[in-house]
Formats: sequence, C-alpha cells, structure tokens
Amino acid sequence: MTYKITLFWFRRDLRLKDNAGLFHALKDKPNVLPVFVFDTDILNKLPRKDARVLFIHQTIAAMKMQLQEKGSDLIVKMGKPIDVFKKMALENEIEAIYTNHDYEPYATERDGQIKKWCDTNNIQFKSFKDQCIFEKNEVVADTGKPYTVYTPYKKKWLKNLTAQDLKSYPVEEHEKSFFKVNPKDKINSKILSLKDLNFEDFDFSFPPKMTKKSILENYAENRNFPALSEGTSKLGLHLRFGTISVREVAKVAQKLSEVWLSEIIWRDFFMQILWHYPGVQEKSFRPQYEKIAWRTDEQDFKKWCKGQTGYPLVDAGMRELNETGHMHNRVRMVVASFLTKHLLMHWSLGERYFAAKLLDYDLAANNGNWQWAAGTGCDAAPYFRVFNPETQHEKFDKDSIYVKKWLADQFMSLSLMVMHPVYATVYVANFFRA
Ligand code: FAD
Repeated sequence: MTYKITLFWFRRDLRLKDNAGLFHALKDKPNVLPVFVFDTDILNKLPRKDARVLFIHQTIAAMKMQLQEKGSDLIVKMGKPIDVFKKMALENEIEAIYTNHDYEPYATERDGQIKKWCDTNNIQFKSFKDQCIFEKNEVVADTGKPYTVYTPYKKKWLKNLTAQDLKSYPVEEHEKSFFKVNPKDKINSKILSLKDLNFEDFDFSFPPKMTKKSILENYAENRNFPALSEGTSKLGLHLRFGTISVREVAKVAQKLSEVWLSEIIWRDFFMQILWHYPGVQEKSFRPQYEKIAWRTDEQDFKKWCKGQTGYPLVDAGMRELNETGHMHNRVRMVVASFLTKHLLMHWSLGERYFAAKLLDYDLAANNGNWQWAAGTGCDAAPYFRVFNPETQHEKFDKDSIYVKKWLADQFMSLSLMVMHPVYATVYVANFFRA
C-alpha cells in the first residue's frame, strides 16, 4: 500500500508545540508525517560518545511516543537526507516536504540541493522562520546594509518588535492532519537505537527545559558570577535544539528581564551575521586580521584544553566545560581571551574545542563570540578588550568559590604540584587570597 503524504522534517526544532513549520504543514496539508534524519554528514564528524547525540535521541524517542499516542508516528532514519528522501519517495507519494529554516552554511547548501531535487520531482519544499525572532534581512540599517555592531542592531531589533513576532503557532489546532499510521504498515518504523547509530549510550543529566522565575528576575544582578548555580537560565541546550520555542522565551524575557532579552538578541545578532557573512566560519570577520601570525604551541594548547594553565579562573572554566559540557558565559570570555590574547593562538583552535564540548554548541553563537573575544569579529573596539584572568577572578569570584569547586581535586594533588610548580604557586596564592 502506498500513500500520498507530506513530510515534516524536524532538525533544530525538536518540539510539537509552537513550531512554525509544523503548524504550516498541518494547516496546509491533510496527511503530515513527521520525520527525523540522523544526518551522517554531521554524525560522522562526532566522537562516538557525545551527550548531544544522546540528547537528540532521548528527545526524538519522547516525541515519537507522543505522536504514536495521537495515532501518528515519527519516522526516524539515518543517512544523507537527500538519499533518505529519494528512497522514501520510491515507497510513497510525497506531496511536499515542510521544514524550518536553518541558516548554517552546510544546512543552506544541503537544503538547496533538496529543494532542487523536489522541484524536479514535483514535490513542494517549504521552509519557515522558527529558530530566531528576526532573521536574514529583517533587521538591517536604513541603508539596507546588515548591522555588524550589536548595539545599533539591538536598538533596531527592539524598534521592529511587535506582538505578532512573538505569536505562537498553535500546532494542536490542526492535529487531525497528522498522517494516521497503522502499526502493521511498512511505513511504521522502530526507533533506531544509539547502537544502531554507532554511538555510545550513557547516563547524563541534562539541564531542565524550564527556568525559574527568580533566576530571570535576578538575572541582571547575578549573571556575571559563575559561583551562582542559579545565576543564568541554562536554557542554551534547549534553544540550540529547539526543545523550547524562542518566541516563548522572548515573551517571558519581555516580562521579567530586559537584560535577559538582550541575550536573546545577541543570539539573533550572530545568526544574521553568519547568514550574511558565511565566510566567518573559516576566516576572520575583519579581513585584515587574517594576516596575524598566531603562535602555535601544542603543549600550551593542551594545557589550556585540560585546564592546566596555572591561572585558576581559566583552569576552572575549562574543567567545568570538560566535565559538564557547560561553561559560564563570563568564564567563556576569560578563557577565550586567554587563548587568543595571552597565549596568542588562533581563535579557531578554541572555537573547535568548544564545538566538540559544549552542549549548547551553535556555530553562529560560538564563532561570533570567539571572534568577538579574539578581536577579529563584530566589535567596536577590538584591541582594547583583554580580559585579565586575575582581575576577572577578583571581581567575579572573589571568594574563589567557583575556582575551588572545579580545582579542588587538583589543588589537593601533590603530584600535580610537583609536576607544575608554577601552577602550584599561583593556586596557593589564589586559594589563600580570599
Ligand atoms: P543565559 O545567560 O540564560 O542566556 C539565555 C540565552 O541567550 C542563552 O541560552 C543563549 O541562547 C543566548 N545567549 C546568551 N548570551 C549569548 C551570546 N553572547 N551570544 C549568543 N547567544 C547568547 N552560546 C551558545 O548558545 N552556543 C555557543 O556555542 C556559544 N559559544 C560561546 C563561546 C564563547 C567564547 C563565548 C564568550 C560565549 C559563547 N556563547 C555561546 C554565549 C553564552 O556564553 C551562552 O549562550 C551562555 O553562557 C549559555 O548559558 P545560559 O543558557 O545559562 O544563558
């Protein structure tokens, strides 16, 4: 038996609520079958034990169950998306593929190829804005040029914002359009296990999808202090994979914290930078900085990665990252400045290390922030920004609570002291300073 179906392709929008593309698919078409593709072009570059793959897997397993409860399903495939769709088109008649925009260079190229294939096969390909509040050319200067400095971008962003931009897409109103899957049908599929995907399964505790009202109410005062476990929202992972809607987040921000809303605007800012200037993925945003002769020193880089530089705040941050997949924003700025402005190493080394480790890794935000910290990116005064790891420690972790939390074991380790005398001296000085 073959069916005429519309596919809704989930990517960085892993939720059944307030999802623009899914809403439009269900509103426009009668038989919408959701699909998720474990894209081998992306997976093949990852280590076999990766908490983000685990997170995606757990999330889609939960969505599959929710869709099955509605009488539908989430089809889970692995491969190159275009090959997956070609195969699916041989098995059933695909009327359309709906999805949400993804602005990364790899994704825009992949989607372009799929659209081309759709066009030649009489399949509609429709994509929607969902991942940010304003995209592409929606916030530009009066001259029509993109903003490359945050403050004027933010001003215009706020000026442009209307209630309509934050309106949610009520997917539930059109649920009847989900394709009804007969469990006996071939179209029905079991979820691929992590083992099928050639990835390791392990226990990991992810930050919750909800944040406390009190965190946001006190965000402006607390956000810079890494020792406070409730100083920031920890929603980065959920915004990254779309397990929460950015419109919901922005609505809450509007009510509770203007400063927190500014962070959501930073997120949009870097997304539009990457979209307008995809070359930043490989090269400095400011071309003149391509000429910098960066230092290379494998040993220094390794020490930075492991948190063994001898600078407590830098080391604590790197250990937080290595152990949890998260690092506080203030400390991200300090370690990035340290790598690029103290060790004088290329920002892309740090960027790639973060990309491998961060749960909330996002190309636009990571690249934008790294280039900002290195002084090669979108910033009004690049040369003047050097974060002194000692004064930052003094200012933002004056009782060394954060530093002690992440360096306690190493501080106690005699062997490390012997191997790294400079390290020991700095630690001892800092531990007793407070
Ligand atoms: P909150 O402080 O609660 O902020 C809420 C949300 O706003 C974040 O979850 C994030 O989506 C967004 N946001 C906040 N600050 C920024 C910012 N400066 N730029 C862009 N978006 C922001 N953020 C990422 O999401 N992915 C990255 O890969 C990433 N890499 C970074 C690399 C460096 C060198 C630096 C300095 C910052 C980086 N950031 C990145 C930005 C920021 O550090 C994290 O978004 C934040 O620490 C996540 O914690 P949170 O969810 O508690 O954020």
